[in-house]
Amino acid sequence: MDAVVDAFRDLRKPDGERYAFTVRRDLLTKFFQLLDFGRKAGLLEELAGGFARHQSHMIPVEERDDDEAGKAIPENVIAQLDAQVRTLGVDFPYGQMTPDDVQLMFQTAYVVLRDTGRRPIEVCSLKTNYLEIDGDNVTLIWDNHKKKRYKRRLPITTSTAGAIQHWMRRRDQMVLPPKSRAYLFPSISADTGIPHLIPGNLARAIRAWADALPALHSGNLDRDGAPLPFDTETIFPYAFRHSYAQRHADAGVRPDVLRDLMDHRSVDTTMGYYKVSLERKRDAVATMRLQVVDRSGQPEPMASTTAYEARSVAVPYGNCTEPTNIKAGGKSCPLRFQCAGCGFYRPDPSYLPAVEEQLHQLRTDRETALAMDAADFVTRNLTDQIDAYTEGAEKMHKRLAELPAEQRVEIEEAGRILRKALASDSHTMLPLTVINRDQGAS
Ligand code: SF4
Repeated sequence: MDAVVDAFRDLRKPDGERYAFTVRRDLLTKFFQLLDFGRKAGLLEELAGGFARHQSHMIPVEERDDDEAGKAIPENVIAQLDAQVRTLGVDFPYGQMTPDDVQLMFQTAYVVLRDTGRRPIEVCSLKTNYLEIDGDNVTLIWDNHKKKRYKRRLPITTSTAGAIQHWMRRRDQMVLPPKSRAYLFPSISADTGIPHLIPGNLARAIRAWADALPALHSGNLDRDGAPLPFDTETIFPYAFRHSYAQRHADAGVRPDVLRDLMDHRSVDTTMGYYKVSLERKRDAVATMRLQVVDRSGQPEPMASTTAYEARSVAVPYGNCTEPTNIKAGGKSCPLRFQCAGCGFYRPDPSYLPAVEEQLHQLRTDRETALAMDAADFVTRNLTDQIDAYTEGAEKMHKRLAELPAEQRVEIEEAGRILRKALASDSHTMLPLTVINRDQGAS
């Protein structure tokens, strides 16, 4: 019996992945029920009496981390799903509900999954008094069944609320099983034990939809630069919770705020999503290191992602490879950060917005210097910096424009990720002299 129980403890799918704890536990329970039935029915008299359940024959409870990061459906794929949402729920039989109503119900559940990041059971069991509206502030009232925390509150957008209210108006016209009246998404019939849509039916509707979708683009390219398709097997209701978390983490929402939004107890669970962000940053660096240029815009790709990250330091308008400055974390520039004229300057397209901002600032400074009748060398220095930054930026723009569209999109996305990563780093500001025009030098 020890061996049998051990086998159930480690029961695996054909692809080698271990079954979820609940599946293994349920199968072991069924096995013991079968054994009990066999003994009671006198069918197992040949079987030794010692072949029986002992109290140690349990499958230890595993705290399944449903919020494990890494399963998020990327935003570009969600945009493709949105474009196809009208086909969700087509041909899905659902009790007495008309096909149009079935479609609208599943499409609304999809919007709620996508926009609120609640678990599937939490979406399926939303009540009809789920919304609190105070002007433009809309709050979703929901129950965290998993942790038995009820009447939780989540701010949602008016467009999400509008989608739900649209469904509510349709739902109000329908004849519903009496026990479903309090629920936003009714059960399939009056005979089922559960008074609302069950997560299994939501999962089946989404699976059928995903299976029937035309090819989705992952946004990644293979080695030959051909776009890679997105694996639709990874589209399931829970994945939208991961996407919600990822979306907020990528937008720079602080871990403690995201922990509250996710209704996690521990920020460690929430921080998992930031680790994924670091992986994304690494991927972005791998893309961007090949786009690095020198001060005049000539390609100077970094030999490796390590070189990009460890042998350079981020300064305001690009990376700096000057060893003393790297050691000092970017705070020891011998040229007072006049990077456009420096042989150690290594910008890449992720810095283009910063370079353009700097160009704008330099032009303003030059106008001010001219108005102040400053000495020629002052305006000449500003003009030379403007010319140098302009030359570098124009060459970067030109190179980007010459690339195939998919590669350009990939580089632009990598640039966005690196800018976000830079903005969310708790880096110390560089010792630049900042002129606050209202209050003088600060
Ligand atoms: S001018 Fe810019 S690139 Fe050159 S050492 Fe200073 S910070 Fe580095």
